[in-house]
Amino acid sequence: MEVKPKFLIKNGKRLDGRKVGEWREIKITTGVIPNADGSCQVDFGKTKVIAAVYGPRELHPKHMVLSDRALVRARYDMLSFSVEDRKRPGPGRREIEISKVIAEALRSVVMVEKFPRSVIDVFVTVIQADASTRIAGLNAASVALADAGIPMKGLVTGVAFGKIYDETGKGVMVADVFKPEDQWGEADIAYAKSIANDEVVLLQMDGDVTKKEFLEGKAMADKAIEYTYQEQVKALKAKYEGD
Ligand code: ADP
Repeated sequence: MEVKPKFLIKNGKRLDGRKVGEWREIKITTGVIPNADGSCQVDFGKTKVIAAVYGPRELHPKHMVLSDRALVRARYDMLSFSVEDRKRPGPGRREIEISKVIAEALRSVVMVEKFPRSVIDVFVTVIQADASTRIAGLNAASVALADAGIPMKGLVTGVAFGKIYDETGKGVMVADVFKPEDQWGEADIAYAKSIANDEVVLLQMDGDVTKKEFLEGKAMADKAIEYTYQEQVKALKAKYEGD
């Protein structure tokens, strides 16, 4: 959408018809890359992301080896045709940053001490982007790690939230922002946690919100996270129970 709309929410309805706390359709599928040790595709509406996990395996170069634990590496990339204006191929500053925060979030749940001297590689590829790709990627990565049989303290689950303006000019908090809200909204917040450990593993904010607004948005995202988590578990069960 190239023309900026006058407002992003009117009569409590967002541009795509959702209510404030409503999330897009969520689809989670495991085993989408048979050559990987574990894999998963997560769709949050039109945002589609695939994660592939390789490892634990021997780490090269040797100077990166950690003698007491595994190194978890992540690489986030967007395909050139995943966005409206073709994206220049290869990682830029944004991709390097997102790779770093995804790796850090995953390190807090993977039982790295079980695999000293090895590496676990996670490749997150955005095949279609409609905002919240880092969060969709993180959800996919944690399921792909579980699919690879890598022991974890829990899955990582996230949903972004944000602040947009309504027809009266009032700021409104919403869950699971999509592209027009990311582009023209007041704030977007990437948020992910480990439900099992009750620990926030990723929190990044672009824009401005008050503490009250933050807590209101977070409460909505928490509900969406509960649902997403159930879908992650369902996807893993479907694979192993052969549904
Ligand atoms: P996230 O995808 O995690 O929300 P950003 O806030 O950086 O991360 O990006 C928001 C959205 O902007 C992306 O999901 C994508 O739809 C779009 N976008 C990001 N980078 C580009 C780019 N280079 N060209 C076109 N669109 C982009």
